[in-house]
Amino acid sequence: MKLIYDFDLPALTELFQSWDEPAYRAKQTWEGLYRHFWNAPEEFTSLSKPLREKLAANLQFAPLSPISQMASSDKQTIKTLFRLHDGQVIETVLMRYGTRNTQNATRSRNTLCISTQAGCAMGCVFCATGQMGFKRHLSSGEIVAQALHYARLLHEQNERVTNIVLMGMGEPFHNYDNTMAAIDRLNDESGFNFGARRFTLSTVGLVPFIRRFADETRQVNLAVSLHAADDETRGAMMPVNKRYPIAEVIEACKYYVHKTGRRITFEWALIHGVNDTPETARKLAVLLKGILCHVNAIPLNPTTGYEGKATDRQRAQIFKETLEQAGVPCTIRMRRGIDIAAGCGQLAGSTS
Ligand code: SAH
Ligand code: SF4
Repeated sequence: MKLIYDFDLPALTELFQSWDEPAYRAKQTWEGLYRHFWNAPEEFTSLSKPLREKLAANLQFAPLSPISQMASSDKQTIKTLFRLHDGQVIETVLMRYGTRNTQNATRSRNTLCISTQAGCAMGCVFCATGQMGFKRHLSSGEIVAQALHYARLLHEQNERVTNIVLMGMGEPFHNYDNTMAAIDRLNDESGFNFGARRFTLSTVGLVPFIRRFADETRQVNLAVSLHAADDETRGAMMPVNKRYPIAEVIEACKYYVHKTGRRITFEWALIHGVNDTPETARKLAVLLKGILCHVNAIPLNPTTGYEGKATDRQRAQIFKETLEQAGVPCTIRMRRGIDIAAGCGQLAGSTS
């Protein structure tokens, strides 16, 4: 049975027309899904009962079954483990920033980190998702449904999702078409109306797709996982570097900035003794010279399959200062949700 979230509005309209239902019924259904966050046929009270029954008989509504939900000790990070219809599991993480009372609701930030694949084929050694291997691509509807799950939850508290990062399980550019379809569906003004600029997509550095993404017109932010300034080091951490070495990644990033005028983010997991020396910072600055960019450094989060240790605060600070002295802006990202394995690179669909 087809998943209702896999349809965009024109496709839904076409389906309704094939049932001899007028286009405005499709629009009402669309609004039910993306404005009211209804997720069961019986909730669509704007439709007639026979039509609701037809929807129930022909379309799947609940692609994600929440198996467990965990909150970090400070309650600011929530991770949900979902089971998909075929038994695969994925994780989605909500990070809340700032105050949460009603008066200040508009000032709080709710960033959602969503998955694009079950597992990942890229095999980065320091990443729990890479360590588990590739299971399958998510459909666009399965990606969309993660956002709607949390939109519904926040809506009950008079809040909303403010940012979406495609940095959960999987490599978004390995599942390019479904990922873009999901972004476009959530971006649709007549539905969820989530601004393109409030999405950030992170890629391991699949060069042809960085170029394709640059050629398309979306205003989605792009982050590229670099993690090393020489091919030997990067190749040892990220198998993809053998296919797309650093020079090619940087060329593609320059093309992206030139084409879009947008600032690009480079991600850097700081690993003690591997990629965190001042020499490395200077090498990185040379590599990034002249590119409208900034570096997002994050001390490595622990995973069972990798022995590397996180850079301590002091060394991280020196790395940042060295980069900045060489003209490259750098922020050190706060570690979030480590106690529930919800941090970057820790998502592996484990139920424990
Ligand atoms: N596949 C994409 C997006 C998902 S990973 C990518 O690799 O870019 C999101 C970010 O977390 C990436 O920058 C990734 O390199 C980083 N990451 C992976 N494992 C990590 C770990 N153990 N500690 C810190 N960051 C990690
Ligand atoms: Fe995949 Fe990204 Fe993890 Fe690498 S870091 S294995 S690309 S999810």
